[in-house]
Amino acid sequence: MNRLRSVNQELMREFNRILVIQHIRSAKMISRSDISKQTGLSMSSLTTIISNLIDEGLVKEVCESTSRGGRRPIMLQFNGDYGYVVGIKIEVEGIYFALSNLEAEVEKKIFMKYPTSSFSNEQINQLLVNGITEVIKGCKVDEEFVGIGIATSGLIDQKNLLVLGSPIVGWTNYSFQGIAERFNVPIHVENDANAFSFGNIWDFKGPKSRNFIGVLIGAGVGAGIVLDGRLYRGEAGGAGEIGHIVIQNGGTTCYCGQRGCLEMYASYAFIVGEGKRMLAMHRQTTLSELSSITPEGIWQAAKDGDSCSQEILFKLGENLGVGIRNVINLMNPGAIVLGIENSGLGEYLLPRLKTEISSHFFAQYKQELEFQVRSNCVDVVLTGICAAVVSDLFRIPIYR
Ligand SMILES: [Zn+2]
Repeated sequence: MNRLRSVNQELMREFNRILVIQHIRSAKMISRSDISKQTGLSMSSLTTIISNLIDEGLVKEVCESTSRGGRRPIMLQFNGDYGYVVGIKIEVEGIYFALSNLEAEVEKKIFMKYPTSSFSNEQINQLLVNGITEVIKGCKVDEEFVGIGIATSGLIDQKNLLVLGSPIVGWTNYSFQGIAERFNVPIHVENDANAFSFGNIWDFKGPKSRNFIGVLIGAGVGAGIVLDGRLYRGEAGGAGEIGHIVIQNGGTTCYCGQRGCLEMYASYAFIVGEGKRMLAMHRQTTLSELSSITPEGIWQAAKDGDSCSQEILFKLGENLGVGIRNVINLMNPGAIVLGIENSGLGEYLLPRLKTEISSHFFAQYKQELEFQVRSNCVDVVLTGICAAVVSDLFRIPIYR
């Protein structure tokens, strides 16, 4: 019984600490008495929590606010400059490296292309070491390097810093253990769509709803499912593999072994396949002038007015809409937030995608579904992965 009581007290202390950090972070600057008013915490317990946070270096006291007479309160601020984090996003063509403070605000970003088309785990780790070294160059010595976050597509084993499999980049059992040892800091590995959803929560610019789905569209399609304000990971950490929900029974065989997966109808491979099909059908298209069919080539042709290329991209949007509509029907979210890695594609993807999702099951009951597009989704992913590192280290909640 005593043990239970002490566990409860500990949980309560943790909960209160989280609550206080949340209020300080979201208010930017706030007085102790305002936190007390907003949280209902007594001034005495608040004083203890805040002095601990100040000792940890996470919160600082700042200039007095302009007051309407009487004693001016000392304000509190989250100390984002206490340390820095490196956030990494693995892509098909190369890797983004970002430097952020503890507010997960990206201060510097670089992109490194893969030097070769195929590479070993060691070569990737070397590239990561180079990128991390480059991006932290010039950081102040009194600031602490607190951790590294890596966002990648695929199924992740977070505990062992492993990418179990990412068909998009062609990795199986890639380990980042060497990076952790090289820099001697903790590493947080996360699926990129999950990081996208984290970013949406952390930067306060995402959907208002506590139930939303972040859909990241790049070379593949992934989703980060947020239920009641928390990321839903599923049993093996793989929840959100929206790219492998079947939208065409008996359709195109997917690399996952199933047939008719969304990703077969809504990915770069689909764009290229459709381009080739148009040519084989001798359709009137400027694609015939290209030496090879690439997603970029088709996008450029669409921009130049080639109706065949436009049709391919419109169809891609429609297919994505069908997949997302299935997820809406399953999860009943309050919002969908879309990140399109090539933001220029939005013009072609969005019209039919919106039409498709607007006919979801709940629409007949006039239920509101917020729809948001984040144009700078790489930055949102980088913010999310940096936030995940900060959240792990300092027990700062991403959730609200
Ligand atoms: Zn599949």
